[in-house]
Amino acid sequence: ATVDTDGRELVGGWVSVTGGRIEAVGSSLDPLPVVGAETQVVDVADCLVTPGLVNTHHHIYQNLTRAYPPMTDKPLFGWLQSLYPLWRAIDEESVHASAFVGLAELALSGCTTSTDHLYLHPRGAGDLLGAEISAARSLGMRFHPTRGSMSLSQKDGGLPPDDVVADDDEILAASEEAVHRHHDRSFGAMTRVALAPCSPFSVTERLMVASAELAERLDVRLHTHFAENSEDDDFSIATFGCRPMEYLERTGWCTDRTWVAHCVMPNPDEVARLGAAGIGVAHCPSSNCILASGISPVNALRAAGVKVGLGVDGSSSADSASMWLEARAALLLAKLRDGAHTMTARAVLEIATRGGAGCLGREGELGVLAPGAVADLAVWRLDGPLFAGAIADPVEAWLRCGPAAAWHTVVNGRFVVRDGHVTHAGLPDMLREHARNGLQSQLDAAVGASRHQVHAHVRDMAMADRILDEVAQDHLHG
Ligand code: ZN
Repeated sequence: ATVDTDGRELVGGWVSVTGGRIEAVGSSLDPLPVVGAETQVVDVADCLVTPGLVNTHHHIYQNLTRAYPPMTDKPLFGWLQSLYPLWRAIDEESVHASAFVGLAELALSGCTTSTDHLYLHPRGAGDLLGAEISAARSLGMRFHPTRGSMSLSQKDGGLPPDDVVADDDEILAASEEAVHRHHDRSFGAMTRVALAPCSPFSVTERLMVASAELAERLDVRLHTHFAENSEDDDFSIATFGCRPMEYLERTGWCTDRTWVAHCVMPNPDEVARLGAAGIGVAHCPSSNCILASGISPVNALRAAGVKVGLGVDGSSSADSASMWLEARAALLLAKLRDGAHTMTARAVLEIATRGGAGCLGREGELGVLAPGAVADLAVWRLDGPLFAGAIADPVEAWLRCGPAAAWHTVVNGRFVVRDGHVTHAGLPDMLREHARNGLQSQLDAAVGASRHQVHAHVRDMAMADRILDEVAQDHLHG
């Protein structure tokens, strides 16, 4: 399934790749490319080959606190306020481990490009953006991290605690520096940076305006949370005297360099305005379900010309990070919302690939199997009990049967996942590092509590005891 402009599906198809680019694509009727001595041939008979999936919204560091018991039953605002105290402990080491593991998880679901909305930069935590970029490079994933920010704390009427926010000017300087250091403008770039104030309820209006101006000046993309649920709407009306859409307009964000996450609550007039502005939307169906935010009007958004992509959202709300699962949820929810005939697996595949590329400003370069595009692709086995009887339509089967994981995930012409496994030999070590950091941050928050209370929240008791002892030792040594 090429997902090219003609939606071509090539039976017995093949893809030839050279130097990180797709050279040619054909069907069994086309002559095969000439195979040289150095050519690697991979037989994927009976598999579905698609462009690699593009993840347009995530907070990877949240995978350190997945399925954290006290938070599993709260809507957005309460959920955030319960988790901020745990998240303030992140540092370079934990962000590196979380990014490595989180991107590996995404690759296993056929994802080849991911963004990350990293908005938490506690004072003294180090170069968190650099840490996650180095993890993505080591793994070989195409990465669009955003320099996120929070500047409106509780004392100024915002949601986050005072000690995790920064000053507007500090944020703008750090954002500009991040772009100069990491943003690669070339075709086929592996790293691009966008600016991403966290959300209207956690940054000042001045920062929203200044970020849009800075993005314009640096020619980079803009990202934030938008119209996420009714609390978000209510906050906007009470604080800014207008709905989130009007706030986006008055802060200079209605430009085609903007893509927003969630967009659950726009009314029909706002849908039209989003489309006219050329804004992109990261649809995050699982997270919207878990936090009971609502169902985004994806069909209406697409009909209005909005570029809709898919996002797994932060791993503490979704809590999985499988692009296949998000694609499946997008299929089911659009049907449930608008009618059985209104969404197909093909449309969702387009959202998960071309749509995501549109959100990131890389149409034609990513998310398509076509000559000249980057060599990012996913290979899906459609055999075994899960797919028995699915003979007539491999694309519908891909999303209606399953669950499916990628058999191969190729990024920039290199295998990140092969035969269903992550190819990087460092994954087991990184998982241990991740476990240590995740537990540490959960225990840091609980260290005031008794050992008994800690055990009530942590499954691995031996490890909990070990770390509590370490923490106690640290206290002893000042
Ligand atoms: Zn989010």
